[in-house]
Amino acid sequence: MKRYSRQWRVWLLLAIALVGFGGLMAMSLSGEYDRIKAQELDRLHNQGKVVEDNLAHQLTSIHRSLLSIQQALPRWQAGPAGRAEGQQTLINMGVAMSSVRTLAVLDALGTVTFSSREELLGRNMYQRDYVQVPLSVLDPALLYVSPPFKSVLNAYLISLARVLLDSQGRFAGVVVASVDPVDMGILLKSVRYSDDMHATLLHGDGKIFLSEPNLDPAMAQDLMAPVSTSVGDLPIGQALGQLFGSQENRLDSRLTVARTISPANLAMDKPLVVVLDRSQEKLLTVWRRDVVNQAGAYLALVLISSFGLYFYQGQRTQKIVAAKRLKLATEASDVGIWELDLITKSYKWDDTMYALFGMDRKAARPRNDDWIKLLSAEDLQRMRDATRATIQQDQAFSMTFQIRRPDGEVRFLHNRAALYSDEHGIPRRLIGSTEDVTQRMRQEAELRVAAAAFESHESMLVTNAQVEILRVNPAFSALFGHSSEEAVGRNPRLIRSGRHDTDFYAAMWAELAAHHSWQGEVWNVRKDGVEFPCWLCITAVCDDKGAVTHYVATHTDITLRKVAEDEVKRLAFFDPLTNLPNRRLFTDRLHQEVAKAKRSQGHAALIFVDLDKFKPVNDRHGHAAGDQLLQAVAHRLNTCVRESDTVARVGGDEFVVLLTSISQPQDAVQVVQKIHAALRVPFDLPIGQSVQISSSSGVALYPEHGLDEATLSHHADVAMYAAKAGGRDQYVMYEPALDHPEPRPE
Ligand code: GH3
Ligand code: MG
Repeated sequence: MKRYSRQWRVWLLLAIALVGFGGLMAMSLSGEYDRIKAQELDRLHNQGKVVEDNLAHQLTSIHRSLLSIQQALPRWQAGPAGRAEGQQTLINMGVAMSSVRTLAVLDALGTVTFSSREELLGRNMYQRDYVQVPLSVLDPALLYVSPPFKSVLNAYLISLARVLLDSQGRFAGVVVASVDPVDMGILLKSVRYSDDMHATLLHGDGKIFLSEPNLDPAMAQDLMAPVSTSVGDLPIGQALGQLFGSQENRLDSRLTVARTISPANLAMDKPLVVVLDRSQEKLLTVWRRDVVNQAGAYLALVLISSFGLYFYQGQRTQKIVAAKRLKLATEASDVGIWELDLITKSYKWDDTMYALFGMDRKAARPRNDDWIKLLSAEDLQRMRDATRATIQQDQAFSMTFQIRRPDGEVRFLHNRAALYSDEHGIPRRLIGSTEDVTQRMRQEAELRVAAAAFESHESMLVTNAQVEILRVNPAFSALFGHSSEEAVGRNPRLIRSGRHDTDFYAAMWAELAAHHSWQGEVWNVRKDGVEFPCWLCITAVCDDKGAVTHYVATHTDITLRKVAEDEVKRLAFFDPLTNLPNRRLFTDRLHQEVAKAKRSQGHAALIFVDLDKFKPVNDRHGHAAGDQLLQAVAHRLNTCVRESDTVARVGGDEFVVLLTSISQPQDAVQVVQKIHAALRVPFDLPIGQSVQISSSSGVALYPEHGLDEATLSHHADVAMYAAKAGGRDQYVMYEPALDHPEPRPE
């Protein structure tokens, strides 16, 4: 905006200068115009004066002749001799006066009595103006000037006449002289100094007498009207000044001077008027050419200066825009620009450079090389070597170095530079840019760490936000059997087993959406179809605005962990020797079974089994044989019950059987009989011995012998002890009477 207003100001100044200059030119031309016209008017005046002087002289001379004739007339009228003398005198005068065409004396009746032209004698001119006007005025002092008229001899004339009065003062005729147009014509011709100049002699009433060059009748008519009206008001003998004849059939306006001729010593009734005029068109030809030339020069000046300014501003604007663009670009990119003068060894920096180096512009030394102190000795040496290589071999300068800024902060900067040589090829300047690459260096380091981490032994896959696999690491391929090529572009469903329902995955995605991470145990499937448990960690990677761009998933094969866990579980709930549920698990199952039977009003039976005389087996065959026997017993017990029933080992040679699928007490009796029969069959132990044993059992029924597990257990135990007490190798069904047994035999 500012730039535009400045531009307009310059245009305004140029316009003012051009208008001013144009004004001066116009003023100069206008002055010249006025000067030419004034000069011309002056000249026309002078010529008018020449005509006036000449005519005044001639009129005076004619008047004097008329007077002399008037004075001699009485003598000439006295007799024939006088008459002859008079006649001869007029003839002589007519010859002598070149400006006079005819001299005549007319009597009171208008008859020519004397004349310089004998052919006129006796002619009557009574009706002529030069008779009638003096007759009517009867002023002996007056010199009558007639309007131009055609004479009897067919000449176009002006007559000058004086009245003759007799002794009583009555009209006695006129003495008259007609002015020769030829002589006047020569006078008018002589004052013309240019072809376009007109010289015109008019009668005071406005009628043209003579004109040079000869005007055609129409022209004469045209000129007559305006001039006549103007001249009518003229003070006698005074220059008219400038008159412009308006000729409608010509575009040529004329510069005109009129002069009235009426000498003071003559009492002329009407003056003569001489009009001199020139064509302004012709007069101003040179001036007009000057106007055209100067206007052309002015136009050229306007155009050249406007175009010059336009191009200058265009170039300037381009330069400003380019400089601004560069400034904005360097500011936006945090790139500093510097210049090293190779002659003075001084640096020029822009503001960004000071910011990059954390230095204060005002405190900088004239050579501005304080920044060198911020480099390590090693980097400084590299910088010097690189600079030398650039100057000597014109190599591109590009290096990254580390600085410790005055505030202690460590930064990585990257320098690029180019060499500028003068026209003789001598290096003069090094111009370069400096960029802060600290962030980039850190990011690159982080990327290297991430890349190294990605190559770890843990299986990893990366997907985009649309959950298409972008990358997998070698550990993934090793774990799942899919190569990178096979996995990339696919959905991670590739490794999904069929073990989890859609709700499981929906919950997983909901958690991911809410917290951007999820971890848990998942069953996956290898390429060869083997399913195995994994510990899966998924992390969503977000951009600055929090939108998910990637998901990273790691898989840990937890098969071994699961095995270990199962083992722990087995140790906790199963008897390690026989793999039967231990007391803990059995108690739990009994609790569940009682609850279930309660709900369904079903039946259940609890059988306590203790091997008879087991200790002696140990003693006789060894502890290992005893163990093998216990394992074989466990196996046989399991064969005696259904899948849904439970056999547990709750002590050294004590077992419990929980029957859940009975509908009547008899069912339990059958099972216990079956157990007893099975255990009585001799055991062929792996260590080679054959052992035969028996067992004692106690049976308690739900709901008959107890409604809770403690009562049931107690009653089964009581019944079992009753069987032992009863001589072993038998089973006893609980009955309340057993609650008070006789002391147990040892
Ligand atoms: P009774 O007829 O009265 O039941 O006499 P018994 O010999 O079977 O003795 P009792 O039931 O009181 O004792 C069980 C014996 O079983 C005690 C112990 O020496 C032996 N025993 C306990 N646990 C194990 C074991 O894990 N392995 C072996 N081999 N013997 C065991
Ligand atoms: Mg026993």
